[in-house]
Amino acid sequence: MVLGAGPAGLGAALALARAGARVVVADPAAEPGGLCVTRRRDGFAYDIGGHIPFVRDAPRRAWLEELLGDDLRWVGRPVACVRDGVVVRGRYLDQRPPEPEPAATHDATARGELASRFGAGFVDRVMRPYLEKVDGVALEAIPGDRARRLLEGQAAPDGFLFPAHGIGQLMDAMAGAARRAGADVRLSTAAEAIHAPDGRVAGVRLAGGAEVAAPHVVVAMPAAAAAGLAEPEAPPDVLGPVRMRAVAIVYLALGRGRLTEEPWIQVDDPRVPFARAFETPNWSPRLTPEGRTLIGLECYCRADPGDPVWGLGDAALAAACAEALRDPLGLLDDPSEAVVVEVLRIPRAYPVADLAQVPAVRAPALWLDGIEGIHLAPGAAVIEAVEAGERAAAAALASGVS
Ligand SMILES: Cc1cc2nc3c(=O)[nH]c(=O)nc-3n(C[C@H](O)[C@H](O)[C@H](O)COP(=O)(O)OP(=O)(O)OC[C@H]3O[C@@H](n4cnc5c(N)ncnc54)[C@H](O)[C@@H]3O)c2cc1C
Repeated sequence: MVLGAGPAGLGAALALARAGARVVVADPAAEPGGLCVTRRRDGFAYDIGGHIPFVRDAPRRAWLEELLGDDLRWVGRPVACVRDGVVVRGRYLDQRPPEPEPAATHDATARGELASRFGAGFVDRVMRPYLEKVDGVALEAIPGDRARRLLEGQAAPDGFLFPAHGIGQLMDAMAGAARRAGADVRLSTAAEAIHAPDGRVAGVRLAGGAEVAAPHVVVAMPAAAAAGLAEPEAPPDVLGPVRMRAVAIVYLALGRGRLTEEPWIQVDDPRVPFARAFETPNWSPRLTPEGRTLIGLECYCRADPGDPVWGLGDAALAAACAEALRDPLGLLDDPSEAVVVEVLRIPRAYPVADLAQVPAVRAPALWLDGIEGIHLAPGAAVIEAVEAGERAAAAALASGVS
């Protein structure tokens, strides 16, 4: 049984089905993909934020080619950022002076980790404003392993591979391949209970009351939500409160050619509501109608009416984003040109990256991991999640799934 049909769940399901195991996948959403779905409106196709698949090796590239064929395209531009009001090539991290990096020392805080590699001056001047804008806490409170992930796992210095019809195309291809290999992918079907008597998983109850007996369960949905489904119940300290970061994504259409040449731009300016802008035709021309462009603006915040970004109504937030494209960014002369396609709000996008709440964030996964037959598939990025799903599948297969 696989809980969740996002990249992690589909990665697990595909690997299990191809190995000949009997697999049922359940997800409450109507389409596969989790956060990696491609939405369609007014002739535009767009993802829930810019979704770069960070591909690290030739086997993963071959895996993508097999699933997507000619629809796998190369976007030959790295992430960009805004410095002194100008869009420049490379992330804030890539703006570092061309000096040899000192040997990496592992530090518990992102500030310590980054300063040991790049020097405190550069980190405080160039990286801090952006990282704090995204995460909403001081760099001294952000865990060092988040900085390591940023450095090592989430870099695309020369460009990246991307599905021509959006990240959802990859998810659809994975779900299709899993089904063809024999997986039973049940959408619009939430898991409602995980039966784990005597510390061993026995099965799952699905919405509608169906009981699926399963000696192995891959958890590819948020661990805290899965721990909340356990019967008998998880101890209360496992399900303690966790502060979550929210994101509001504003999609603005323009009835003209591209605004920039960049797929993804990081923006650290505190006057600008968004921290990242992604212009979809620069990811793939097939996402926008000829002669029009769409720009998605990711505004990281707290899902609280008192938050200066979240608290704005959709129209006011969209207007503030369009105005910021004019001033201070200087990318748009007339903000009234921009037409709102959608304002999408994700109130619980990810746990606030604060060292103080790391134990509370980890507790549900640690507790689930102690139940025999449960295999966790955590992933903080698309390909990382697919690989976590594959590892969970391998663990289930190694312990005798059929
Ligand atoms: C704005 C934004 C931008 C991002 N940009 C990037 C990027 O550039 N590159 C990158 O690699 N990653 C990016 N990510 C991260 C990426 O989206 C995630 O890492 C990835 O989706 C994680 O996959 P997952 O399968 O673990 O979880 P999810 O995609 O969250 O899927 C979890 C699934 O579990 C399901 N579920 C929930 N409850 C139940 C239940 N009761 N029963 C069964 N199923 C359930 C959900 O419906 C969902 O489909 C971004 C994320 C956001 C929000």
